[in-house]
Order: sequence, then C-alpha cells, then structure tokens
Amino acid sequence: MRFSLKILLWTIIVMALALGFSGFYFVNYVFETSLEREVGQAMDESSILGFAFETAALSVPAKYSVLPDNTVEEIAANLERGGQSTGRLLRISDEEKNVLYASDGFEMDDELLMQTREDIKTYRIIQVEDAYYVHTGTTVNALNRILYLENLKDVSDVFTERAMGFSLYRKVTLIMLFAGILIMQLISSLLTKPVRLLTEATKRMAAGDYAYRAKQISQDELGQLTRDFNSMAEALEKNIEKLEEEIEAKEEFMGAFAHELKTPLTAIIGYADMLRSHKLDEEKSMMSANYIYTEGKRLEAMSLRLLDIIVAGKEEAQLQQVPVELVFDYLKEMFVGSRKMEFHFDYEPGAVLAEINLIKTVLVNLIDNACKASEDGGRIEVSGSASENGYRFAVRDYGIGIPEEEQHKITKAFYMVDKSRARSKNGAGLGLALCVEILKIHNSELEIESEAGEGSCFGFVLAKGGEQE
Ligand code: ADP
Repeated sequence: MRFSLKILLWTIIVMALALGFSGFYFVNYVFETSLEREVGQAMDESSILGFAFETAALSVPAKYSVLPDNTVEEIAANLERGGQSTGRLLRISDEEKNVLYASDGFEMDDELLMQTREDIKTYRIIQVEDAYYVHTGTTVNALNRILYLENLKDVSDVFTERAMGFSLYRKVTLIMLFAGILIMQLISSLLTKPVRLLTEATKRMAAGDYAYRAKQISQDELGQLTRDFNSMAEALEKNIEKLEEEIEAKEEFMGAFAHELKTPLTAIIGYADMLRSHKLDEEKSMMSANYIYTEGKRLEAMSLRLLDIIVAGKEEAQLQQVPVELVFDYLKEMFVGSRKMEFHFDYEPGAVLAEINLIKTVLVNLIDNACKASEDGGRIEVSGSASENGYRFAVRDYGIGIPEEEQHKITKAFYMVDKSRARSKNGAGLGLALCVEILKIHNSELEIESEAGEGSCFGFVLAKGGEQE
C-alpha cells in the first residue's frame, strides 16, 4: 500500500473516531440535560396536581367525614380536563392501591405504584409503543384519605430530538470525512512528494543514470534524507567512474600487452620457420639465430618487468633508514664509465625511509631513460636535496624531451612516445610504470618536467630518515 494512502487511511480512521465520539457525547449530553429538565417539570406538575386535588377535596359537603370514591373520580376527571389541549393522563388509586380513576389510554403496570409511599415521590421513564413518558407517582392527603396520584408526561420530543441529533451528526461526520479525505489527499501527496522524488532518483540510478540527483524540496527530515541520498549518489558515481577508468586501463593494458607480445613473437616464428624450412648458409643461420635470441631476450626482459610491476603493486612497505650516500655510490659505480655520458652527481647528505633495492630500481630506470633520450656524451645530472617536505631525488637530462600532450601517458604500461626509437634502445614502455608502482609503496609520486627538444627532469620526494650518526 502506498505511503500517502496509509497516511490518508489513518487520518480518516482517527477523524471518524474523533467525530463519532464527540458527536455521540455532545448529542447525548444535550439529551440528558433536556430529559433531566423534563423530569423536573413532571415532578413539579405531579406536586401541583396533588395540591390541586387536595384543594378540590376541601369543598366536599360537610356531611362526608371521608372523601367518597365518586367525588375522587369527579375531581380526577376535572383535573384531567384542566390539562393541556391533549388532556392529562392520570390515575388515582386508593389506600389499598386499587385504581379508582384512570384516564383513557393510561394502561400501566403497577410497578411504580407499588414503590410510591407517603412522602416518597417516585418517577420512571417508560416507552409505550413509539411514545416516551415520564411516569410520576405521589400521594395525596384528602379528607382522611391517603390516595395515590400517578401522572404521565409525554417526553417523546426529547427522544425525537436525540434521534435527529444523531442523524444530523452522522451527516455532518460524513461531509467532514469527505472534505477531510480531499484535503488530506492533497496534504499527504505534498508531504510524500520528497519520497516520490527519491524513488524516481533510485529508479533512474538503477537504470544507469548515475549523474541523476533527487530534487530537494523541503528542509525537514525528508530534505535531510534527500541531501544524504545525493551525497551517497555522488560518492557512488565517483567510485563507478574510478572503476570504469580502472577497467579501461586494464583493457588498454591487455591490448598493449598483446601487441608487444606479437611483434617479437612474429619475428621469432618467422626466423625459426626460415631455419627449419630452408637450408641457409652459415652467416644467414647465425643471423636468424641471433634475431631469435635477442627477441627472446626482449620477451624475457619484458615478462620480468611485468612481474616486477605486479609484485611491486602488491608489496607491503618494508621501509628502513637508508643513508643517501649508499644509493648514490651504487649509481655512480653502475653508470660512470659504462655509458658514454657526462654524469654529474650532486647530493646533500641525509637519510630516507625507503626500501633500498626498490629505490635503486627507480633511479636506475630514470637514469637509463635519460641516457636513451640523450645523444652520446650528453649531460645527465642526478641530484639529492633535503627540503621541509622530505628528501628529493631528481634526474635531469638535456635530450629529446617529451611533448606536453604525451607527458601524462608515459607512465602507462607499454606506452612509448616513439615506439621504434624506444624498441631500438631495448625499451618496452614498462620502466616508468614500475617506478610509479614502487613510489606508491613509498607514498610518493613521480614528478615530470619536460620540454620537447630541451630535455626532461624526473623527480620524487621520499620521507626523511632520522639524523645520521
Ligand atoms: P622504456 O624506456 O622501456 O621505453 P619507460 O616506461 O621507461 O619505457 O618510458 C616510457 C616512454 O617515455 C619511453 O619510451 C620514452 O618515449 C618516454 N621517456 C621516458 N623517459 C624519458 C626521458 N628522460 N626523455 C624523453 N622521453 C622519455
């Protein structure tokens, strides 16, 4: 069942109960008050009748010492006629409670008569067919006789008014309920609008429209819910975008990987086929075997690099205090003299928090790239400087540089700005990808500054280690 319908239904139930009870209480209160008034009047009338009877009895001739029955009847008939246009309904009984006179239509049981005693006035409310009466009973003291006088006062109007009151209230209740339903439908629809907007947003998002946001139309709890929902949607959208980017990167990686495998494998298969299907002279056989060997080596190097990247991506940081001298000494030993380059090593003493072999790998890759990008005899500067943020390593060359639009791509696996140049120098586009993974373990990033034709500077900052002894 819809929420707005539930609100509507409960409101109707509460309204119906409230109107029903209040109506019943009100009509009944009016009825009770009127009836009480009528009973009061009936009792007064009963006393007046008794008094009138006693007064009439005073004028009985002196020869009677006791009021005779026929005089009782006479007085009663006079009293009956003296009533309203409809005539009074009364009954007179003697000391033994035998009826002496009864008006036409006064056919009553003796229950009240039996309860009435001298100086005890009684009443009851009775229904005779469709009419209601206040039945009163009193005693009359007339000429040495105690007589019982009963009177009926018609109070049907009070009961009719009550019935009319109930019927009117029922109509009012129905009209109020009908009007209430219309108004509450409007209100509940307005109140639940934020919920409907939220539902719409969830549907749109489930259908793939992650940028869709629910409109906030109120400042209450539902407004807060909409705000929270929208911030959740924001976070979700960002995560989905990230996942999509990751999937795209993986697909790109797979494509590039397949491509990089294909080139050396085609060469290997081609030369191997030549070797087995033709009788080649010694020089050509040697050349073919050499191609197969170098391409095979390239494949081996590539798979080792890939393995390194995967391992680095999963590695837990085992950072230790590393004096920078150790790193620079290693680099000097490795590069100076072995390459036809002009190396300049310049560093401030200090220590870093690092995994020494991984950091050596990063710097070897960067220096290797700098060598590949430079002409023979080119200047390559490797520097280390302490700053407030940490210890910064940098490798600068004055070689071919990298065009600006390429700079953000070169850290992707298998990406090479100039493929044939990179391959001729044994490149596979994996070195910088490995550097990025290693630096991630060190909570650091690769910074690239480069200008085509001017040269490049690759740098990164590591956390400083403690004071050196
Ligand atoms: P590889 O060197 O094996 O090709 P890298 O991931 O180390 O792979 O580098 C990717 C590409 O970035 C290189 O092919 C090259 O085009 C470019 N690059 C890297 N370093 C430099 C540099 N110092 N100067 C110019 N280009 C560079």
